[in-house]
Amino acid sequence: MFTRLDRNSLLRRSRLVTATLSLKNAVPRRNVSIAIVGTGPSGFYTAKYLLDARPDTKVDFYERLPYPTGLVRYGVAPDHPEVKSVTSTFADVCNNHSDRVRLFANVAVGDPDLLSSNSAVGGDSSSDPVESIRLEELRQTYDAVVLAYGASSDHRLNLSGSVNPDTGKPLQGILSARSFVNWYNGHPEFTHLHATNDGHQTSKSAPSYAFDLSRTKHVVVVGQGNVALDCARILAHDPHTLESTDIADYALKALHNSRVETITVLGRRGHVQASFTIKELRELTTLAPHATCLIRKDELDLGLTVASQQEVTNNRPKTRIVELMQKIAQQSASYTSTPTATSRTVAVRFLLSPQQVVPSEIDSQRVGRLIVQRTVLTGEAFHQKATIKKDAIEEESLPCDLLLEAVGYRSQPIAHSLPWDHNAHTVQHVNGRVDTSTSANHNSTADANKSNVGGLYAVGWLKRGPSGIIGTNITCAKDTVSSILSDLQAAGQGNSDSKETEDPVHILQQRYPRAYKNSISWLQVQKLDQEEAHRAQVAMLSYANREKVGGENHNKPREKLTSWQDMVRIAHSAN
Ligand code: FAD
Ligand code: NAP
Repeated sequence: MFTRLDRNSLLRRSRLVTATLSLKNAVPRRNVSIAIVGTGPSGFYTAKYLLDARPDTKVDFYERLPYPTGLVRYGVAPDHPEVKSVTSTFADVCNNHSDRVRLFANVAVGDPDLLSSNSAVGGDSSSDPVESIRLEELRQTYDAVVLAYGASSDHRLNLSGSVNPDTGKPLQGILSARSFVNWYNGHPEFTHLHATNDGHQTSKSAPSYAFDLSRTKHVVVVGQGNVALDCARILAHDPHTLESTDIADYALKALHNSRVETITVLGRRGHVQASFTIKELRELTTLAPHATCLIRKDELDLGLTVASQQEVTNNRPKTRIVELMQKIAQQSASYTSTPTATSRTVAVRFLLSPQQVVPSEIDSQRVGRLIVQRTVLTGEAFHQKATIKKDAIEEESLPCDLLLEAVGYRSQPIAHSLPWDHNAHTVQHVNGRVDTSTSANHNSTADANKSNVGGLYAVGWLKRGPSGIIGTNITCAKDTVSSILSDLQAAGQGNSDSKETEDPVHILQQRYPRAYKNSISWLQVQKLDQEEAHRAQVAMLSYANREKVGGENHNKPREKLTSWQDMVRIAHSAN
């Protein structure tokens, strides 16, 4: 496997480092090399705390996509620019430690067979120019490897009726919320998910009419987390208000042509169990006159079981959000208008479980309705479950031209050697330490050559599962960094190796010349930033010419590059 590499040198490199000497000590020591796989919040916070803690640490980031920052770029909604300002903290990590941090974007890490089956689940990865490096080789070359690669797949409902029995193909118009989010955020593998204005597809692999909003009147979003509310809000907005954001240009056009009239956000449990937060719910109430948020009082009453009341008691955030829902329900009672494409409704419904998809009467290849059944809450407070009301089944048939499943992101293993928790869909770890010797699939040859089984770590959504805001990754990263630091210290005790060791990249470059040649550095990312800023100015001028420019300010931060090839080309261009 490592024929081109000097095995002894790899083994030397794989020994954990001597690091107990303080800065005051005059004896020089070698650097600690750490590879971080993934550049989302968890990866950047891990780097920050490692670099702050140990001046002898050098960090190399490996990122599959051509642009770093993970879900901050491809998850956070375009109308939440204040959240994206966290990227300045990430930029500081690179800029303030330019001699200790390197970025290799456009380079994936993992076993090729797993990467090709995982990559861009729901997306079009046919033309990705990405090269990959095996995790085992990274581990043999760096002192420690931190997996911070997040969740690039999703939990799906697989509802009855979602496959057309005649063709055996999935009905069109049923997509994960993750696909929709990636699409409006300009993720290079999801740009194909819409039809052009004349109804033709932008790519042969595009599911027909996936996000052809000009033919969509009724959207149902299943799930009641913040991702569901993000999707509902983006669909409900007056698109002019999105012009000053970094939404993908094709998505903005599609939203301008949108015929969407109703958006239903469906929860299988009650309003007390909804996992969205008050800020996001309140935002839905501020879209008038373009959209009105509706809640039914009878559904709030149904959800207020004794157990639910216990869940609210002494819980200030829950009390406040329940009060807001009651206020919305009160106002909804007087809503009598008929929704239109310029006066939409966003109905937040509770205690309804999606059961079956029914094809459209006009186009049997496409979803037309969603059958839902009334549920009741059963079980103890904080563990209440949604159970279908069996005594007298209550069924509703919701019109549905587009069904977005917002029921959670999901991580996937990138290497056969990773010990995997198949229930939680996360890597197995203890305080961020990943022990591959416990993996049923572990590569015994590679592991036999290693002395630092503790040299593999996990952080972020891969470690905890797909929940938590950006800030949650701070404590998560501190936990993992603390494990790394104590392992380094333990391994370094009594060792006073004073030699500078070979750069891991020099070793790996011999085996993966194309990956490093095609990689995108932090400096090259700044070229992408400049190009996107320039395109934003051009876009704002064109909107200004139409006189109507929406949004709170007219300072569009960037017009995202959405083609992988363009990003690589521009990043590698001479100027
Ligand atoms: P990610 O951010 O997903 O980063 C993982 C990185 O790893 C990605 O860059 C990915 O390309 C890379 N990667 C994947 N596979 C490989 C591989 N094989 N090799 C190399 N690199 C790889 N939180 C807030 O506080 N405010 C918000 O407004 C907000 N909005 C959100 C909106 C959405 C739609 C979602 C899904 C989440 C949102 N969050 C928000 C939560 C926040 O984004 C997450 O907590 C955070 O991004 C998780 O960080 P992470 O580093 O674990 O994963
Ligand atoms: P989430 O908060 O876990 O919500 C998932 C939703 O899916 C829940 O309502 C869940 O209902 C529902 N669900 C799961 N399985 C279901 C099924 N089989 N049938 C019907 N419903 C089902 O996850 P998320 O919305 O993907 O968000 C992920 C994380 O990112 C969260 O921590 C979120 O706060 C964060 N985020 C933050 C922001 C922001 O700050 N603005 C924006 C987006 C995301 P049950 O509760 O009944 O299981």
